[in-house]
Amino acid sequence: MNLTRPLACLTLLFGAAFAPAADAPALRGYSPDSARSEHDWEVMFRAIPSTQNLHDYLQRLSARPHHVGSPYDKENAEWILSKFKEWGLDAHIETFDVLFPTPKTRVVEMVAPQHFAAKLEEPTVAVDPTSSQHDEQLPTYNAYSIDGDVTAPLVYVNYGVPADYEQLDRLGVSVKGAIVIARYGGSWRGIKPKVAAEHGAVGCLIYSDPHEDGYYAGEVFPQGPYRPKDGVQRGSVMDMPSYPGDPLTPGVGADANAKRLAIKDAQTLTKIPVLPISYGDAQPLLAAMTGPVAPEAWRGALPITYRVGPGPARVHLKLEFNWDTKKIYDVIARIPGSPYTDEWIVRGNHHDAWVNGADDPLSGTVALMEEARGFAALQKQGWKPKRTLIYCVWDGEEEGLLGSTEWAEEHDQELRRHAAMYINSDSNSRGFLGMAGSHSLEKFINGVARDIEDPEKKMPVWKRNQLARISRSPASERDEVRRRPDLRIGALGSGSDYTAFIDHLGIASLNLGYGGEDGGGIYHSIYDDFYWYTHFSDGDFIYGRALAQTAGTAMMRFADADLLPYDFTNFAETIRRYVDEVQKLWKTESDEIRERNKEIEEGAFTAAADPRKPTVPPPAETQPPFLNFAPLENGLAALTHGAERYDRAFRKVAMDQPGRLQPVNEKLIQVERGLTLPDGLPGRPWFENQIYAPGMYTGYGVKTLPGVREAIEQKQWKEADEQIARVGKVLEKEAALIEQAAAGLE
Ligand SMILES: [Zn+2]
Repeated sequence: MNLTRPLACLTLLFGAAFAPAADAPALRGYSPDSARSEHDWEVMFRAIPSTQNLHDYLQRLSARPHHVGSPYDKENAEWILSKFKEWGLDAHIETFDVLFPTPKTRVVEMVAPQHFAAKLEEPTVAVDPTSSQHDEQLPTYNAYSIDGDVTAPLVYVNYGVPADYEQLDRLGVSVKGAIVIARYGGSWRGIKPKVAAEHGAVGCLIYSDPHEDGYYAGEVFPQGPYRPKDGVQRGSVMDMPSYPGDPLTPGVGADANAKRLAIKDAQTLTKIPVLPISYGDAQPLLAAMTGPVAPEAWRGALPITYRVGPGPARVHLKLEFNWDTKKIYDVIARIPGSPYTDEWIVRGNHHDAWVNGADDPLSGTVALMEEARGFAALQKQGWKPKRTLIYCVWDGEEEGLLGSTEWAEEHDQELRRHAAMYINSDSNSRGFLGMAGSHSLEKFINGVARDIEDPEKKMPVWKRNQLARISRSPASERDEVRRRPDLRIGALGSGSDYTAFIDHLGIASLNLGYGGEDGGGIYHSIYDDFYWYTHFSDGDFIYGRALAQTAGTAMMRFADADLLPYDFTNFAETIRRYVDEVQKLWKTESDEIRERNKEIEEGAFTAAADPRKPTVPPPAETQPPFLNFAPLENGLAALTHGAERYDRAFRKVAMDQPGRLQPVNEKLIQVERGLTLPDGLPGRPWFENQIYAPGMYTGYGVKTLPGVREAIEQKQWKEADEQIARVGKVLEKEAALIEQAAAGLE
């Protein structure tokens, strides 16, 4: 038990921010005494993060390019370590050796109908001091593209997602043997070369259309925050939906002894060469194309007629990489808890960037550092968390979640045993608190958001979030937002360092960050730097402070609880929605196929087609069989029963009896693990979680109940039936774990 109260003199020190403890509201999972103590410590904690420190750390960390393998990446890790130590934290660096390709040769040239050589350079901007550090900047490229040297006609494929290729089929255009040019957006970038290769393309260019984040969206840099003509979005194209992390060491930490695959056997490299380009470089290529005019939804904001091709533009794409192994540096700090030292609450944000990375990731990194400093200061005042806090500053996130994945794989068994929660952040700007993650934490994080003040509106960030949602929701949802005690949180797909924790290990996870008010087009370019961030984002760092307060409060509130504040009623209710969604998905697909087959029979496609613009009618498809959703409904019924029973027991039990609650806490930590199966999802065993996963064809975008949902989307009816049975069993297993926890409270 930890009922130490802060010393009275500190009340004077923290002045008005120190609210009287007698008014402290009840906290989920706390006895009245523990809630009072916790409230006082939290108020003290939230007074600590300083906007000046956030500013200074950001300036220091973003002063030079700091990608994996660069001198400044290592210097930053060592500097963060030195700060942690200076504050009195027990910290160290853990290293891993990972495959990290960097470009040796990059050529994009049009060889017909006229010659044009792409620049592939981002120029210095005079007012922006770090934009001139060309010697240390990584060239513009997509990491984990294979080497290649191809010359072929160009085909424009819009976002390059599967639906775009169905449209191309209707237009009678094939990408077989072609180089595709796709625009950024509509999916995670790694999906574009993957789908292109599946359709027989031999190369892939990805460009930033001004429609998405250039002049169509707003004024361009340096007059405004959006992408200038020569700005390029770097980024990884590793096949992360198969497995993230070092391509050579799937499932194990990439330490010195790890067994490594040969590069030729790595599954997550692309199948074809791929390179990102600016709209300055893309415009001449797109302007030289003929063929059908692109469908309306495919047109971007360049001053040209968008055409699909193929050709007559022919492009030569040549790429060669240095296939080096680089060291990555994770900084890990540990704040030991007592008495429950072996229960871990883990927090992370990455420190590496593509270039200077002031926004991505450092605006989040600096908030994490202020939290760590805050806890070091509280410890000196006598605070000791009940559980152990582990603060992680990851390296190698940008290339493929390398630092977090290798660390999670290295500590696989300990984490599965000890970790109660993981909280991630990755970048921060102004606006509303974004909350996404495991629905067993939905109630908990709503509670935290109620206690954080919006620095501009001076109201709880929860309230501001709710009011904004009411004003933006469709009429049918407004009432629910008004009435439901908790704001719904989104589910997590992939795209940041929570992936190994939630998807591989089954640890309840959250991703937090403020945003929604600042747009921008400097993502993964040399212009994501201190100048841009302080001119166009949270330049006074008040939302950086809010992030430190939010994530820090969540960390300490989870760590200090008498009974871990998971809740399963919101979780079960959310699963109800997912089960409804997959049934509706089957119905919609079935109806669409029936209707399309009928129209083919009637000759509707041929009759409607303009004879001067030949199109190909879609092929007839077999009508899907009925699926048996009963196992999913049975699993859900068991889950709902367990959740309600646990909730009743939770409300009744007295929280001041550690001898009784502690065995329940130990059970609760394992409950989220119940959502995993050791052999994972179909075709991707690394993804063990059966409820949350990134989509095979969306990349970052989440697919909930992924085994079932993706089988239906891909019309694999037999597999869909098998997956329904499998996930139904997982829900029953989860229900049994929750029932056991409830029994411990009754
Ligand atoms: Zn990031």
